[in-house]
Amino acid sequence: MNITVTKPFMPPYSDFKNYLEGIWSREWLTNNGPLLNELEIKLKEHLDVDHLLFLCNGTVAIQIAIRALDLVGEIITTPFSYVATTSSIVWERCDPVMVDICPDTLNIDASKIEQAITEKTTAILATHVFGNSCDVDAIHAIAEKHNLKVIYDAAHAFGTLYKGKSLLAYGDVSTCSFHSTKLFHTVEGGAVISPHASVLKQMAMMRNFGHSSATEFGSVGINGKNSEFHAAMGLCNLKHVPDILSVRRTLSERYKSNLEDLPIQFQKIQAKTEYNYAYFPVIFESEAKMLKLVEFLNLHSIFPRRYFYPSLTKLPYVYEQSAPIAEDISRRIICLPLYHTLSIEEVDMICRFIKQELSCE
Ligand SMILES: *Cc1c(COP(=O)(O)O)cnc(C)c1O
Repeated sequence: MNITVTKPFMPPYSDFKNYLEGIWSREWLTNNGPLLNELEIKLKEHLDVDHLLFLCNGTVAIQIAIRALDLVGEIITTPFSYVATTSSIVWERCDPVMVDICPDTLNIDASKIEQAITEKTTAILATHVFGNSCDVDAIHAIAEKHNLKVIYDAAHAFGTLYKGKSLLAYGDVSTCSFHSTKLFHTVEGGAVISPHASVLKQMAMMRNFGHSSATEFGSVGINGKNSEFHAAMGLCNLKHVPDILSVRRTLSERYKSNLEDLPIQFQKIQAKTEYNYAYFPVIFESEAKMLKLVEFLNLHSIFPRRYFYPSLTKLPYVYEQSAPIAEDISRRIICLPLYHTLSIEEVDMICRFIKQELSCE
């Protein structure tokens, strides 16, 4: 059996089947159906946020957020994220300006943001990397001072709390992904969360082709809707979030105690953060050592993943910029397998292989 970097959480099949029966009897498959409404309400309660929209995925969520905030010109962002963060900026015809990351938290270095602001800057789009909080207080202060909008790519941040509040509650808009590989998933899916009712109203219109009523259009829009089937998966999975978080925590702590004495660096969790253990990233001394280890693990049917590689400064459609810390770390980092059905014994076995390989230098 292969041990892959991740596996989707599967709720009890009978739960999903119950929802399917309801869908069949109502004959209502998409377009703001009852399950979608129920999921949005339950997510708002779960996250304790004012406004949330369930969308088709986390990439369209970023694109709609950029549109709804009417951003143009330059958007300050991180080179260490999934490609969707940068590609969405470029897709919306804005220019990504990369600010390097902190080598310990792996998030955008807030102390370097101000020097990147120009008269064309309209926003900061930062990622809570691997579910670890950005320095949201510092970013908020900079945004206030320079009159910039803040979007958080919170694709990894479901379940993380900052100062006791869901990390998704921060920023002018937070975007989330509910893709199958994420901690909480709806097969495919995403969300936008915003404290501003007016921005939410705009995003609600944009998600549905710009309709403001059946016969009127309030803005240009896109199809960002999601279906009753996806909402049903979300309703099944939401019940298991406390269990999902606790299993990931146990596995992550086991990894950490097993690997503590090796020349491996772990991500430093931001102060005042209750972390969701979404990923288990490890940074090696060199790319060569990391590649050699991955090859060795692959021989034993263990498949960690290079995440995130390459640094987004290297994208062919981003004008030449440099971010030495992100470029260096992206070459040396991998995420170790972490999923709900991974066992403690498997974690121990993976760690034994890592120790074996790193000690035979
Ligand atoms: C998964 C992910 C996305 C994209 O989400 P999709 O739902 O797959 O479109 C965006 N940003 C980050 C950081 C992600 O990990």
